[in-house]
Amino acid sequence: MTTLSNPFEIARETLRLLAGRRIPPTPDNYLTLYHEIAGTKPSGNAFPEAQLRSLASALPKASPDQMRLARQLDDAVKAANWDEYKGHLVGFVNNLAESQKLAWSELIADLLRQWDAKHPGLTAARKRESLEHVLTSSGANPDTLFSRMQGLLRSWGHGREQETAGASEEALSGNADFSASTVALPDLLPELRELFAFTLETAIATQLVESPQLSSDAKALAADIRTATSPAQLQEFLTRLKRFAFKLELLAEDQTELRQSLLGLLRLLVGNITELVLDDHWLHGQIEVVREIIDKPLSQRALDDAQRRLKEVLFKQSQLKASLFEAKEAIKQMLAGFVDHLADFAEATSDYHDKIEICASKISSANDISELENVLGEVMRQTRTIQINAQRSRDELRSTQAKVQASEARIRELERELEATSDLVRHDQLTGILNRRGLEEIYDKEAARAIRHDASLCVALLDIDNFKKLNDSLGHATGDQALVHLAKTCRETLRPQDTVARYGGEEFVILLPGTAIEDAAQALMRLQRELTRNFFLFNNEKVLITFSAGVTQMIDSDSFSTLIQRADKAMYEAKTTGKNKVIKA
Ligand code: GH3
Ligand code: MG
Ligand code: MG
Repeated sequence: MTTLSNPFEIARETLRLLAGRRIPPTPDNYLTLYHEIAGTKPSGNAFPEAQLRSLASALPKASPDQMRLARQLDDAVKAANWDEYKGHLVGFVNNLAESQKLAWSELIADLLRQWDAKHPGLTAARKRESLEHVLTSSGANPDTLFSRMQGLLRSWGHGREQETAGASEEALSGNADFSASTVALPDLLPELRELFAFTLETAIATQLVESPQLSSDAKALAADIRTATSPAQLQEFLTRLKRFAFKLELLAEDQTELRQSLLGLLRLLVGNITELVLDDHWLHGQIEVVREIIDKPLSQRALDDAQRRLKEVLFKQSQLKASLFEAKEAIKQMLAGFVDHLADFAEATSDYHDKIEICASKISSANDISELENVLGEVMRQTRTIQINAQRSRDELRSTQAKVQASEARIRELERELEATSDLVRHDQLTGILNRRGLEEIYDKEAARAIRHDASLCVALLDIDNFKKLNDSLGHATGDQALVHLAKTCRETLRPQDTVARYGGEEFVILLPGTAIEDAAQALMRLQRELTRNFFLFNNEKVLITFSAGVTQMIDSDSFSTLIQRADKAMYEAKTTGKNKVIKA
């Protein structure tokens, strides 16, 4: 078969063959036959030139971008280049999406600018009203919202073009992020409104239990902000909110004044207790601590501490008063008795002297022996009487002496009792820090607080190294002073919210609330460093105190004793691996 090269001839031959072979004249059959005659191969993807050209011509050509696209597509059709065609079209759509995103940020920048700008005849309330109208009437449709917002801004009297130029300048100068973040502003409004109501209702109203009127004002305001949607309602709400804030400010001033007066009263009381109690050093120490606590900025912890210490002061004072009263009564009675006896004795003796003198003169003037016999009998009687009196006085003196001894024994017993009841109080008498009982009470509070706030609570148990040696070489009293020094250094080095307690002999426990185990161990090491810097002085000689410590973190299932056991195990490990160490359990 000869191959034809003229397209007209090929077309004519194709039609002829279609008719001759009785093949239905469909485009596909025509194309197959056409290639057969021309000796060419049909391409797998025929370039749909006509369709693409019609698509390109149907696209709008209103903007320079659109006109550029039409030209590019036309060129691609002419070159029958599908990839080029597709590339231009996809690029255009992508740019369109980009430019729409930008349009939002421009629109919002525009809104912000115009919101702040002054427009003659347009009040802020009026602007808010129309904006709210657009927001609520556009529903959830972003396109509608966009065009209505544009319309609104245009109606506020500013040409969009001019503003858009300004907006893109802002986008370039870095304000674009701010604008983007305000895109969600209308969505945030309901949440903001609800949060405001919630704050008024719970955070503020509940703080005002002592001012029922203000508390119900806060609740009413909360209800108002939930329902106020129109500008007029909002305006009314703002006015009432201002009044409320003003009243709140007055109340805060009153409360500050009240607090100052109460503190003043407490200082006065504490100052006077010191004057009354002259001879008990422990009481003086306790009162000093209370005074220090109330001189610092107040916190719940500080107040709890002050209250506990005051209770102890009162408790110990009442004990002392009772024993003092008893001792005084006993001594008074003894003195009175003694004076009585002295008087009796003196009376009896002077009586005796008078009688004996009479007898003496009777003797000298006696004329016969029978007279003398009578006088002698009288002398014997008088002497026996005075003897009996002396005997009685001696017996009574003995019994008084026994009473004094009994009284002394009673006072000693009272002192011992007082010592025994000292575990009723919560502070260690030597160091002034909490004792074991006080520690357990604080632990209960701290553990509950940690669980409530889902916070970490760490506990450290520390034991002074080689303390027996220190006692043996420098004496027990110096050992006591070393314990006081350690307690003081702990208090000064650790944070105010940490609790330091004397757990027993030379063992101390520290509670570290809101502290992770790593930080707790660091705090203990800081304490070790502080002890090497801030020496304990004995006769002006530096004595180095070191300790071994175990630190552990509370878990929800812990009791005080399981926690202490863990810390103790770690402390023991510190002891057995060389002392002067902090080990984490
Ligand atoms: P280690 O390093 O293993 O802890 O040795 P240590 O000597 O510190 O420990 P040990 O348990 O053998 O001795 C503790 C000593 O602490 C014995 C006791 O006399 C003394 N101690 C306990 N309470 C007091 C106190 O209130 N005052 C004084 N001065 N010493 C105390
Ligand atoms: Mg020990
Ligand atoms: Mg020890």
